[in-house]
Amino acid sequence: MKIAIDGPAGAGKSTIARQVAKKLGYTYLDTGAMYRALTYTAIQRDISPSNSSALASVVSQMDLQITSDEETGGNRIFVDGEDITEAIRKPVVSGNVSEVSSHAEVRKVIVDLQKRMAEQGQVVMDGRDIGTVVMPDADWKFFLTASVSERARRRQLELSKNGHEVDLKELERQIQDRDLMDSTRAVSPLRKAEDAIHIDTTHMTIDEVVKLVLNYVQGGKSSVQSTNNHPQRHN
Ligand code: C5P
Repeated sequence: MKIAIDGPAGAGKSTIARQVAKKLGYTYLDTGAMYRALTYTAIQRDISPSNSSALASVVSQMDLQITSDEETGGNRIFVDGEDITEAIRKPVVSGNVSEVSSHAEVRKVIVDLQKRMAEQGQVVMDGRDIGTVVMPDADWKFFLTASVSERARRRQLELSKNGHEVDLKELERQIQDRDLMDSTRAVSPLRKAEDAIHIDTTHMTIDEVVKLVLNYVQGGKSSVQSTNNHPQRHN
């Protein structure tokens, strides 16, 4: 079984995907981390995020390893043997990753890799184009959203836990910029697959969203309806 979880920045995809994968005993793959790994490597090598041919050459040659982190349920990311799991979350990476990931040549290499990983099955992948491009044949597709202010608030809390204090309005602006770039790029833009289930997580807790997703998956409902879901209907 394959589960795709897409949505804009800060909608809760990775937290939900990690927990769902853990509950089901599946492999979790954070596809955004792969674009972040390339962005981080490009910055290290002084390659501009607009230089598509140089980025394509780096991505096809770099030694990218992704492992499961037992402790967090997330992924650990290595490039050329160096653990860059924490480094790829830096604001400089977040600020450049949308441009890096917009190039067709870059996406081709990374999407091919993701498709090969998907073939193994029993996987939960989160990203922007998983239900539309990477796993169009996924058994379950979810599209998570939340209001911009709620997503900024969550991001602020997460950053604050890691010792970074960032202004809420600034975070809202960054999220909107990233949404715009991700949803308007020419190649596999952020888009809800027609057969994905839309979950607006604005007023939901993490546990509620995880429970709702598991209700669908374990309930084995066969037809995937494109609808906006509210937790009270499913509890
Ligand atoms: O999920 P995360 O916010 O870490 O993703 C970082 C960026 O990587 C996104 O803003 C988007 O530009 C890119 N991305 C993508 N396709 C994916 C996953 C992420 O283009 N499947």
